[in-house]
Amino acid sequence: MKKFDYLKPNTLEEALSLLNQYGDRAKMIAGGTDAIVMNRQKKISPDVFISLRGIPGLDQIEFNGIFKIGALVTHRTIEQSELIRKRFPILAGASSVLGSVQVRNVATIGGNLCTASPSAETSPSLLVYEAEAHLVSQNGERRLSLESFFVGPGENALDKKEILKGILLPSPPPNSVGAYLKLGRRKSVDLSVVNVAVLLTLDPKTGICERARIALGAVAPTPLRAKETEKILEGNLLDDGIIRKAGDCAKQECSPITDIRGSAEYRREMAGVLVEKGIRQSLVNHSRIV
Ligand SMILES: Cc1cc2nc3c(=O)[nH]c(=O)nc-3n(C[C@H](O)[C@H](O)[C@H](O)COP(=O)(O)OP(=O)(O)OC[C@H]3O[C@@H](n4cnc5c(N)ncnc54)[C@H](O)[C@@H]3O)c2cc1C
Repeated sequence: MKKFDYLKPNTLEEALSLLNQYGDRAKMIAGGTDAIVMNRQKKISPDVFISLRGIPGLDQIEFNGIFKIGALVTHRTIEQSELIRKRFPILAGASSVLGSVQVRNVATIGGNLCTASPSAETSPSLLVYEAEAHLVSQNGERRLSLESFFVGPGENALDKKEILKGILLPSPPPNSVGAYLKLGRRKSVDLSVVNVAVLLTLDPKTGICERARIALGAVAPTPLRAKETEKILEGNLLDDGIIRKAGDCAKQECSPITDIRGSAEYRREMAGVLVEKGIRQSLVNHSRIV
C-alpha cells in the first residue's frame, strides 16, 4: 500500500481548507471501511487522507422541522436509534443488514453514499424517502436530491472541494408502510446481489395505494427509483394481479450487469421477485404507521 499522510482536522472549516489546499492529492475518510480497501486495491492512491472523524456535529441525528442525519453517523447508530426506527424504519432496516456489527460500528452513512456503489445498502431506502444530500464547500452550502447525487458506478455529484455534511429527510406522509429487502449470496457480511426499498401510502379506509415509492439497487449503474412501477401501484387496490404487474414492470426498469455476484438475467428476475415480496410485506405491516 502506498504511504499516505493522515490529517485530522478539528472543525469542518479546517477540513474544507485542507481539501482546498491538497486538491486531487487528498481523499476524505470517515470509517475507512471502503477507503482503506480501495487504497489497498490501488483503486485510489491519495497522498493525504483527511479524516472527518471527531468533527463536532457530523455524527448527530437532529430534528428541526426536517430530519437531519450527519454524514458521520454510523450504521450501528442508525440501526439502534429509536427515532430512526420509528420514523424511517426502511432506512433502519437497510443499515441493520450492512456488513457485520464490527463494520457497522465504524462505517458511516456518508461513506456509504459517497462510495456511490450501485449496490450500496442505504441508497434505495433514502431514495424512497426522497432524501437530499447536504453538501458544503468553502463557497457555501447546497442541497441536492439523492437521485441527482448518484452519477455512475463509483461516481457522485460532489465537487472536488465539497464534503457531504449530512442527509435531509422529509417525513413520509401519514398511513405509510414499507419494507427493505436485500438478496445476498450469504446471509450476512456480503454485498447485495439486488436490494429493494418499498414505501407505500395507503388510504386507511379503502386500502387504495395513494402514493408509491420503489427503489432498486445493484441492477443499474446507479441506485434508481422505479417510476413506471410506482405508477402501476398508485390509485389501485394492491391485489395479486397489480402486485404481479408491478414486479414485471420493475424487471423492465432494470439494466443489470453480470459480475461475480450474479448474472444480469438473475438480477433482473430477482428484482421483480423482491419488489413483489416488498409490496406484500408492506401490506402485512399495514397496522404499522411509518
Ligand atoms: C467487511 C465489509 C462488509 C461490507 N458490507 C457492506 C454491505 O453489506 N453493504 C454495503 O452497502 N456496504 C458494505 N461495505 C462497504 C462499506 O462498509 C460501506 O459502504 C460504508 O458505509 C462506508 O462508510 P465509511 O465511513 O467506512 O466510508 P469511508 O471508507 O471512510 O469512505 C468511503 C468513500 O466516501 C468518501 N467519503 C466518506 N465520507 C465522506 C463525506 N462526508 N464527504 C465526502 N466524501 C466522503 C471517501 O473519500 C471514500 O471515497 C462493507 C465493507 C466491508 C469492509
